[in-house]
Amino acid sequence: MAAGAPFRVALTFDAEHPDRPGRAGNDERLLDVLAAAGVRATFFVQGRWAEAYPSTARRIATDGHLVGSHTFYHARLPLFSAEGLATDLRDAEVAIVEHVGVDPRPWIRAPFGAGANDAELLASLGALGYRHVGWNVYCDDWHPDHTAAIVAERVVSGSVACGDGSVALMHTWPDSTQEAIPDIVRRLTDAGATFVTIADLPDPESGIPDDDDE
Ligand SMILES: [Zn+2]
Repeated sequence: MAAGAPFRVALTFDAEHPDRPGRAGNDERLLDVLAAAGVRATFFVQGRWAEAYPSTARRIATDGHLVGSHTFYHARLPLFSAEGLATDLRDAEVAIVEHVGVDPRPWIRAPFGAGANDAELLASLGALGYRHVGWNVYCDDWHPDHTAAIVAERVVSGSVACGDGSVALMHTWPDSTQEAIPDIVRRLTDAGATFVTIADLPDPESGIPDDDDE
């Protein structure tokens, strides 16, 4: 892609109970840096997390970000029965509507991306009113050895390589993520990117790369 050619990038964040202990307040700091940068992003909110952190969950919507579902229990969706899947998604909806204040439908991201490339699961999600959002740029910000510099480099180089319609997967809780945002926004803006939500893309990426399972 020619340097400086305009392209749209959707920064997406899974808001969920952390995989490992981190500094308290990272979710709020992430919202602070996005607000300071003037960037609207997309947040996939775990229902159980919204119940635990209702004021942070509410702020995601009041700050103007787009909200989707990240399910209630954060289980691997292919493990559910049809009835279990419907129950988990409805439980998430109830929690997100109550604590975030918006209906997450139609947007959903499967925990771990499990089932994201499975047509049958995507059809089941569709029957429940959901459209799956995967990613085509990832930085493994959850990895304990991934510093903010590594996260920024991966998101920037991945988005530049992917071009228009880049969907970058990040999480709200790692120390490195919120530290990396100012650098990501500055470098991608310089490269010609505009930041959009999933709803602004005509055909947002539904699957995930074959070599990435989280
Ligand atoms: Zn997750």
